[in-house]
Amino acid sequence: MAKKTLKFKTELEQLLHLITHSLYSHREVFLRELISNACDAIDKVRFEGLTNTELLDGDSNWKITLRADKEAKTLTISDNGIGMSQESVIQNLGTIAHSGTQAFLEKAKEMDVKDNPELIGQFGVGFYASFMVADDVTVITKAHGEDAVKWESKGTGNFTLSDADKETRGTEIILHLKEDAAEYLDDWTIRSTVKKFSDFLEHPVVLLTTEKDEEKDTEEEKEDQINTQKAIWLRAKNEIKDEEYSEFYKHIAHDMADPAETIHYNAEGAIEFKALLFIPEAKPFDMMMNNDPKAHLNLYVQRVFISNEFDNLLPSYLRFVKGVVDSSDLPLNVSREILQENPMLDKIRKNLVGRVLKTLKAMKTKDYDKFLKFHEAFSTILKEGLQSDWENKEKIADLLLFESTVKDAGEKTCFADYVENMADDQEEILYLAGENRAAIAHSPYLESFKDKGQEVLLMTDPIDDFVIPQLMEYKGKKLKAVNKGEIDDKDALKDEEKQFEGFLGFAKEQLDGVKEVKLTTRLKDSAAVIVGDEHSMSPHIEEMMRRMGQDIPPHESVLELNPEHPVVKKVQAMYDADAKDPKVGTLTKLLHDQAVIASGAKLADPAAFAARLNAVLAD
Ligand code: ADP
Repeated sequence: MAKKTLKFKTELEQLLHLITHSLYSHREVFLRELISNACDAIDKVRFEGLTNTELLDGDSNWKITLRADKEAKTLTISDNGIGMSQESVIQNLGTIAHSGTQAFLEKAKEMDVKDNPELIGQFGVGFYASFMVADDVTVITKAHGEDAVKWESKGTGNFTLSDADKETRGTEIILHLKEDAAEYLDDWTIRSTVKKFSDFLEHPVVLLTTEKDEEKDTEEEKEDQINTQKAIWLRAKNEIKDEEYSEFYKHIAHDMADPAETIHYNAEGAIEFKALLFIPEAKPFDMMMNNDPKAHLNLYVQRVFISNEFDNLLPSYLRFVKGVVDSSDLPLNVSREILQENPMLDKIRKNLVGRVLKTLKAMKTKDYDKFLKFHEAFSTILKEGLQSDWENKEKIADLLLFESTVKDAGEKTCFADYVENMADDQEEILYLAGENRAAIAHSPYLESFKDKGQEVLLMTDPIDDFVIPQLMEYKGKKLKAVNKGEIDDKDALKDEEKQFEGFLGFAKEQLDGVKEVKLTTRLKDSAAVIVGDEHSMSPHIEEMMRRMGQDIPPHESVLELNPEHPVVKKVQAMYDADAKDPKVGTLTKLLHDQAVIASGAKLADPAAFAARLNAVLAD
């Protein structure tokens, strides 16, 4: 191949510019990123080699080698992993920007990326961290059955590709270190950095050093393993320090903070496996950026890394959990597809779900402040489980927090406390969903309950309106949305109904989109409310979905009037006195308008509303 020069994709060029010009602190993460990539490359070829031994080319002595050349000022990281063909080199290291790149650049603008080089790993752009310490990077790589390729770049606009001399499969990354990064030629710095970040990696990381024998005037290469290579999840819990757990968590989760909770256990009995799971403290950036609904745990079978693609190892609503599951009961030598179907995975999942939910419950009781943070970050995801995991519905419900009419703004309660505080004669758990507390705290729907001293949960997460009805009941108490369906005692308004009969019929004729106008005891201070069907969406959700471009047809609702309210009484009396008086129609429509506004929905014709209001004010 003649030497070719290619241009980086625009986003990558911007990224490289940022890396070379702004990142000076915490530069040592480049080593972790490159060693991680080498480790992944080994895992890939080892896994594929299980079913196709030819791929291995007889070389399965897995190893990541570091070599510092003080004269040439180069640090080389080599592996005998899967290697790359020319095509993959172009894709992976130059032309195809990862999905995370754009997101990374946007985030970098907002945050001071100088102090957060960890961001690089989170966005899957780890290789480019090389340019934090090197002003010239050479990659020499060879995949099974392919010619070796050499990739070179100074981290500016382009990179070059040419033929390379390399006989064995794998990748070699040669960093020509910047003047001010010479410390990475130093044995001690290399050792301590690898120890810090990669001690638990399951493949050996070795340092090659040359020793001069002055007497014989010879040089001898020495290979020295740096990491202890002991998979952390296989070690006994009491031997592991918190820092070790944290480093491991950061390695697999690409997070910069420590985990909120670490769950490490051996399952024994019907199925045996080891699990090391982490619950993050806050949403990591990659989770905010891409909306991947799958849970990703790293599955190992007999200590061989298989995949993090099994979405049936944990349900989607626990996708914030990171970690490792290692099972010796699963068969090793099979394809991912067949493994995915294995009934053992179901058993493992059940067990993991139980553990995670139990841990969260314990966190809620033992460290409420920590739990609040967790809830803030992940409750929206967790709630999806009310819909998808019927078996654990109540356990999930136990972990949810809500504001309520009897609590100050910002203070939360939960279903268990709600039920505990219910009066004996109250049969249902009452709730109202809306956009935010301010929008619903004074809602007409709450009036009669406040009057009776009954607590109503205020639910302000947009997903609540979809998932809370799925719960149906909690500890035998039915859930009831106070803005939907019937709440009145059928006989309570018998006399008033007779008196209002004519007017109610007239009002229905006057109003578009209203299928019924009736009297209610649900109101105390307000005159009118709109009430949806038991299974309808709340108006603020309909509104939100319309804004997102969904075609939500308007549905017919019920207008309920408060027969005790002076305005309602007045309009009814005007109707009785003269059914043809045009003012009756205007006032009836205004009653409907105010009910629509209070429900959180939008008026279909705001100009007509203003005209009606002005007509009454001018009168
Ligand atoms: P990430 O590792 O998060 O995907 P990187 O920018 O670090 O992002 O690497 C880009 C891609 O280049 C990797 O996904 C992998 O396919 C390839 N790659 C990087 N390093 C190696 C290596 N040592 N051996 C084989 N492939 C590699």
